[in-house]
Amino acid sequence: MSGRLEKLASEALGELSGASVIEDALQVKTKYLGRKGSVASLLKELGALSPEERKKAGEAINAVKATLEEAFDAKIASIEAAGRAEKLRNERVDITLPGRRVRPGRLHPVTQVMEEIEEIFSGLGFDVAEGPEVELDYYNFEALNLPKDHPARDMQDTFYVNDEVLLRTHTSPVQIRVMEKERPPLRVIAPGTVYRRDSDITHTPMFHQVEGFMVDKGVTFSNLKGVLTHFLHSLFGEKTEIRFRPSFFPFTEPSAEIDIRCVMCNGSGCRVCKGSGWLEILGAGMIHPEVFRSVKYDPEEYTGFAFGLGIERIAMLKYGIEDIRMFFENDLRFLRQF
Ligand SMILES: [Zn+2]
Repeated sequence: MSGRLEKLASEALGELSGASVIEDALQVKTKYLGRKGSVASLLKELGALSPEERKKAGEAINAVKATLEEAFDAKIASIEAAGRAEKLRNERVDITLPGRRVRPGRLHPVTQVMEEIEEIFSGLGFDVAEGPEVELDYYNFEALNLPKDHPARDMQDTFYVNDEVLLRTHTSPVQIRVMEKERPPLRVIAPGTVYRRDSDITHTPMFHQVEGFMVDKGVTFSNLKGVLTHFLHSLFGEKTEIRFRPSFFPFTEPSAEIDIRCVMCNGSGCRVCKGSGWLEILGAGMIHPEVFRSVKYDPEEYTGFAFGLGIERIAMLKYGIEDIRMFFENDLRFLRQF
């Protein structure tokens, strides 16, 4: 019995020392100390011995059992300790590493310019209105004095959804929607996204416009001139030279285009102003009587002016950006400069 006990103990300790994870150690423990383990089966043999031998063998078995239990507990504790140490090593934080700076987000340059424009017009008592980007042909063209076969429709490359529905090509339909709902006096700007089938260094299929209009009894072209001069001086500086040129739009009569002295070359002529020394900034005019009739205003009673401008164009001039596509590439190196 004592020989077998010794052999059993040394085998158990040998297997235990080979265990590197807790599961292995527990398996060894079950094999030797479990209810059906080696030690239990030795204890069963005690019944066949004489009382004296039984006492001696019993004591010897119990001693081995105690030794093994102690060895198992120690082994499991040491595996657990090694695991903890390993985990701590992996999770160690090197506090000498430089920290990562959190970069706060900021407003897109187009949004910044849009907000600046809104602020200038709010100062003049203009309200801000919005309208749908998916628009009816009626609001985008017909009500603005552009019937179906009007040649001026070719001036704008339109994305059509179907014959009657399109992506608005300008923010002017908001003018119609506001006038349908409200009566003069009106002072409103309508900033928003517009869409045209056009893409090159100065055009993107999606861009932003601000439409503005003022309607009341006795509004004249000099009100238009005064408001837009104040606006351009606020945006580009009091000393900016401004020029009004006659032009044509179906929804205004008379119509004008408004230029400022080139902010890049100060008028001496450069690539941006194509050598002319002037930059076209705004389209404007007195609202056409036909437009008033389509919203049931009496053109004999009310007059008004309207204007429109491209936000990206303003942002390009303000920040000296030459390619409009930069605004929509979401390149953080570009966007972080503003
Ligand atoms: Zn220039």
